[in-house]
Amino acid sequence: MYKSFLIKYAEIGIKGKNRYIFEDRLCEQIRYALSRCDGEFDVNKTQGRIFVNALTDFDYDETIDNLKTVFGISAICPVVKLEDEGFEKLSEDVIEYIDKVYPDKNITFKVDARRARKNYPKCSMEINCDIGEALLKAFPLMRVDVHDPDVMLHIEIREMIYIYSVVIPGPGGLPIGTNGKGMLLLSGGIDSPVAGYMISKRGVKIDAVYFHAPPYTSDRAKQKVVDLAKIISRYSGHIKLHVINFTDIQLYIYEKCPHDELTIIMRRYMMRIAQTLAEQSGCLGLITGESIGQVASQTMQSLAATNDVCTLPVYRPLIGFDKQEIVEVSEKINTYETSILPYEDCCTIFVAKHPVTKPNLNVIRRHETNLDDGIDALVKTALETDEIIEV
Ligand code: ATP
Ligand code: MG
Repeated sequence: MYKSFLIKYAEIGIKGKNRYIFEDRLCEQIRYALSRCDGEFDVNKTQGRIFVNALTDFDYDETIDNLKTVFGISAICPVVKLEDEGFEKLSEDVIEYIDKVYPDKNITFKVDARRARKNYPKCSMEINCDIGEALLKAFPLMRVDVHDPDVMLHIEIREMIYIYSVVIPGPGGLPIGTNGKGMLLLSGGIDSPVAGYMISKRGVKIDAVYFHAPPYTSDRAKQKVVDLAKIISRYSGHIKLHVINFTDIQLYIYEKCPHDELTIIMRRYMMRIAQTLAEQSGCLGLITGESIGQVASQTMQSLAATNDVCTLPVYRPLIGFDKQEIVEVSEKINTYETSILPYEDCCTIFVAKHPVTKPNLNVIRRHETNLDDGIDALVKTALETDEIIEV
């Protein structure tokens, strides 16, 4: 029944002169999402609105599912497009439309007509009244409610006539690529994939880095991170994933530093390396899945100690979230099932029984000097052996 979708966008409508950049990016992202679907589509901008038109047969559910991954879309409205063949025909077509879309007629409705083409013989008010009347006559169970109708029936008179009433919520946010690029520290856990999703929702393109510690962490653990990146890329678009071999650095820290400070010092090295990669690839910030107080390494003191080595801004979109709230998002975006697969993580292998929860920055800095002899070379090697996976 539908061959077209009207794409509604909220926030990007208010960007003034830059509006066209946002709209063009949105069109690009829509095309990217639809490239995963069966069928061919035309995506175009006309009169400040975006339409998706199917050029071939397509799978409705699959198309909607993919459109729902495009940030910047506030709603997807399946539209019926009609030639203007007179008002009589329009009434008949509207009746047929309602009959098909709403099998249960015990509903309230309101007609909302817009006459964009001014030479149409009836004005909006007349269309509202006359179509309303025709519907009441055709379906006596239906009632008008102008304040809070179950069905808001939109009729737009343009070159063609558009009818729509179904409004499917989109993911909101801003189109990817409208807000620069960030480097996501992506582990196999629940939090960092959600952090990546949330930052890309604000229009930020992401690259990612995973710290791998073979043989302490397996290939399966690495594959899990690749799988998570794949799921996020449905929303964020293409991700360049750096896999950094972190084993020698971890072993060296283990050998030289107090064990209760291992996690903090290790995290400082992750941030340093992530920052180097970020700077090399034009990323404007780092992104982590940290949330205050979740674990010892995420107390305010620990976060300060980790942050200390960064000159780029560190974005922590989950900072005020409870675990349950994070889990809810991960279920919604489909990363949860993958995140909970029980493969070892490089952090858990080297954790002390009693990690410091209130690290003193000066003490941490002093203990880090124990690494002076060898750490630069190890960091250099880690960066040189960076494995890049295009996701
Ligand atoms: P997550 O669920 O994202 O793994 P977590 O609750 O396990 O988080 P930590 O292990 O303290 O928390 O890690 C905090 C953040 O540091 C993660 O959210 C992630 O951004 C980053 N991080 C941790 N381990 C790695 C890793 N092996 N590779 C890349 N980033 C990591
Ligand atoms: Mg983790």
